[in-house]
Amino acid sequence: MEQAAPEISVVIPVFNEEPNLRELIARIVSVLNALGRTFEIVAVDDGSTDGSLSLLREMRVGDPRLRIVCLARNFGQSPALYAGFAHVRGEIVAMLDADLQNPPEELPKLIAKIDEGYDFVSGWRQDRKDTFLRTIPSRMLNFFVKKTTRAQFHDVGCSIKAFRREVIDLMAKFTHRSRYLPVDVAWLGVRTAEVVVRHEQRGAGTSKYGLFK
Ligand code: UDP
Ligand code: MG
Repeated sequence: MEQAAPEISVVIPVFNEEPNLRELIARIVSVLNALGRTFEIVAVDDGSTDGSLSLLREMRVGDPRLRIVCLARNFGQSPALYAGFAHVRGEIVAMLDADLQNPPEELPKLIAKIDEGYDFVSGWRQDRKDTFLRTIPSRMLNFFVKKTTRAQFHDVGCSIKAFRREVIDLMAKFTHRSRYLPVDVAWLGVRTAEVVVRHEQRGAGTSKYGLFK
């Protein structure tokens, strides 16, 4: 049976992240329990070919606050996130990666900013734990996005973010989407903030992106 709508929804795109999922979900649950706010976790399985989906299903039996959106094939990180957004019920919507690079312990900082009155809060990885193959294209991306769009963020590609629910509802109506959420959000003209967040090495597995992607 579905429970009453929670205050916070956390969306996680999952593509072959089986070895990281138990720790990830446990850490999110413990952080949000400590906040004393009601929440749900919306895990979007983006066509995983490992045991991610069956593990998510198994974990859901123990905790129905974990909800699963299952995509028919691998669509990519942004489409997976939008698929998750279509199912969120919280007034605050947060997102983070499944590979433990975004520590869930940073979520309260972002949620606090939304509570302060911001509509969109984006993480800023000042000390990024990625290889040059990931950071060089990112620097180029940040430069071009800043020059060519309204999105004036230091770290466009940072995956830990929080939104006021209304922003998600507006973005759901877009017929055209940028691949980068801050570009979509900035276009709306809502109140935005950045918070510095810790960044960690990936848990198990390797990045799904390289220089060319
Ligand atoms: N991801 C996804 N679909 C994809 C590629 C990645 O859902 O086709 C997820 C992945 O499981 C992770 C997040 O998107 O939760 C970021 O992916 P990754 O860690 O590979 O990217 P990077 O940290 O190198 O930017
Ligand atoms: Mg990663």
